[in-house]
Amino acid sequence: MNEPTTNPNSQPPPAGTARRVTGARQIDHNNECVGCGTHSSNPCHPTCPFETSSFSPSVLLRAAAGRLRDNPAGVGYDIRGALFAAAMDLVGPDEAAAAADEGQEVLTGFLVEEWGEQAEQIRAQVVYRHGLFTDLDNIAPSLYAAARHDGLDFDPDAFGDLPA
Ligand SMILES: [Zn+2]
Repeated sequence: MNEPTTNPNSQPPPAGTARRVTGARQIDHNNECVGCGTHSSNPCHPTCPFETSSFSPSVLLRAAAGRLRDNPAGVGYDIRGALFAAAMDLVGPDEAAAAADEGQEVLTGFLVEEWGEQAEQIRAQVVYRHGLFTDLDNIAPSLYAAARHDGLDFDPDAFGDLPA
């Protein structure tokens, strides 16, 4: 009984992602929920991951953007570390590593598309390199852009600046 997918833009998290959001609602640098983008003064949208508890990598990517500054890497930033820290808050310690892997995979796919064919050959390193060689002002919006790629709608022009 496989029903045809008619509207890929309004699908729940991909099959196999049965992870549950167990953490509290998280607000980003724009005072918007990282799950649904609703302003923090308003309740979440009913389909928000913090309402449905249904995890998707996109919410993790958005939650990680605000943690980059807490995860410096000598030169640049440890994106993986930020993803893991966000995953600890969203899904808890038992699933944090696996959830961070999923987020990293979505970001990898996004970056490889952005960077083009050569990036495919260094696929395992693109997130790491992005963290080391890209400015924070560009890394953080890229996490949002990757989240958008994964189904969470957000206008990159509305990203603004991360607070210092
Ligand atoms: Zn929300």
